[in-house]
Amino acid sequence: MRPFDYQQAPDATAAVATVARRPGAMFLGGGTNLVDLMKLGVATPELLVDVSRLPLDTVAELPDGRVRIGAAVPNSDLAAHPLILQRYPVLSQALLSGASGQLRNLATTGGNLLQRTRCPYFQDASLPCNKREPGSGCPARGGYSRNHAILGASDSCVAVHPSDMAVALAALDATVVILGPGGERTLPLTELHRLPGAEPERDTVLAHGELVTAVDLPPGSHRRSAYRKVRDRASFAFALVSVAAVVELADDGGTIAGVRIALGGVAHKPWRAERAEELLRGAQPTETNFGRAAAAELDAAVALAGNAFKIPLAANAMVAVLRDLTGRGGNG
Ligand code: SF4
Repeated sequence: MRPFDYQQAPDATAAVATVARRPGAMFLGGGTNLVDLMKLGVATPELLVDVSRLPLDTVAELPDGRVRIGAAVPNSDLAAHPLILQRYPVLSQALLSGASGQLRNLATTGGNLLQRTRCPYFQDASLPCNKREPGSGCPARGGYSRNHAILGASDSCVAVHPSDMAVALAALDATVVILGPGGERTLPLTELHRLPGAEPERDTVLAHGELVTAVDLPPGSHRRSAYRKVRDRASFAFALVSVAAVVELADDGGTIAGVRIALGGVAHKPWRAERAEELLRGAQPTETNFGRAAAAELDAAVALAGNAFKIPLAANAMVAVLRDLTGRGGNG
């Protein structure tokens, strides 16, 4: 590991000012991903500004009914928080499906959002990779591609975003609070991460020096929500495919009044299944309609040599989650 400087930030504004004026500076949260990347020689910051001890570690209801999650809240605390368990079970389920207990104790909300892809070529500094070294190539395209993207990929990169939590937040229509050198701004979570396009080195739309300080969840109860993760082993594995869904049935239960679905493990960002949502809104909650919606969403999927299985897997996982949430998966 290369030598680097370390500073503990006295407050968020000072942290932002310090990182913004040093191109080689980075924020340090729980360090569960960044420190690994430093050991691998993939991340080589000159200065780490530690934001993990800033007073951004609470989960609280705002006066308008939204719930604000501080960026330094550990994943384990967030998963177990009564407000999250009662109103946003999909988020708790997603958090508990990720990493291990020890890692969840250390990983923060902000860090979880900004973790980097686990593409094996990205993590091996001796190999070419457009994300790590722009213009060097993408060996995953013609190589090991079992875990890679089927939606929204580009010629430059076929990596997927690894976070489970971010998929649940996308389905919940969460908002991200960002502090930059010019002040605070908010952004829908679905606009935080980007598709790779010709610049796969940019995972998000954040500018250098911008710090995620909080995530806001919309008001109300989202009890009819769930997260399903399909992976190669039962724990401590990233998603091959995951589905987060929030469903609202009409009062008589005969139609779907509202639905939000996000997919993980399939794209460079949490993939909001807008085509499927459109088809399901106002439709009867039947197995046939779930299948049609899933097929429409995956119509644009493009498989690589090693990941064609993800297309039916994602469709089946979507149908299964919708069936469970509505309890109305009969044929029709
Ligand atoms: Fe690098 Fe992206 Fe290609 Fe992986 S998929 S090797 S991260 S460019």
